Amino acid sequence: MSYTTLLFDFDHTLFDTDASEAAALTASMATVGLSTTPEELDAYQRINAAMWRDVERGTITPLEVRTERFVRFCAERRIDADPVVMADAFVAGLCDHGELYEGAAEVLHLVAGRARLAMVTNGLGEVQRARVARLGMDRWFEVLVISAEVGVAKPSPAIFDLAFAALADPAKVDCLMIGDSLGSDILGGSGYGIATCWYNPAGRPVVDGGPRATHEIASLVELPTLVDTRGGQAGGPRGGGTSDSAVA
Ligand SMILES: [Mg+2]
Repeated sequence: MSYTTLLFDFDHTLFDTDASEAAALTASMATVGLSTTPEELDAYQRINAAMWRDVERGTITPLEVRTERFVRFCAERRIDADPVVMADAFVAGLCDHGELYEGAAEVLHLVAGRARLAMVTNGLGEVQRARVARLGMDRWFEVLVISAEVGVAKPSPAIFDLAFAALADPAKVDCLMIGDSLGSDILGGSGYGIATCWYNPAGRPVVDGGPRATHEIASLVELPTLVDTRGGQAGGPRGGGTSDSAVA
């Protein structure tokens, strides 16, 4: 008994988004003649994360994030530069920088031999498609659903409907959503009626009242066995806390 269709989040689950963002911000700041301080990286990541939480709530669209995060960043840091120029350079940097987490490729290779793989990501199409191409991820994933391209985002069931349609409607009981964000991946998957796996490498605590995951892993290397056995007896409801995703 195994999960035969796996839906993966990308940022902070398979991909080192923090490293990608740091390199992209350095490139963006250099475009307008500035160096980057740790305080500026912190500010960018805080502003960006807040905006993607707004995407989860449906109050802004993913495409609006692209430039608006730099409008807010320049205002907060009192940077006299064109936010559009900075946003363009930043997106180019996001495409060019960042790698899969150590061991992720091996895990994807293993599970792709046993299950169908779809990527369901809250992000920008130009960024995620460039990364997928650069990293050769189409060798594992047969479906790629990107929120900015389809106009809906996790945790909305609408984005899962699109993924399921692209997969020719697999049985929900055989599907597993894997991701690091309780607010988008776990809430979205559980709300859609499929099993969920919370990727929680930092060991963040469970908080009462938040989304509950079917399974929890601290490392991706746990995933192939979980997929094969559906977690055996070890998997129990886990989760909690607040929305926390920060994506491209
Ligand atoms: Mg994520």
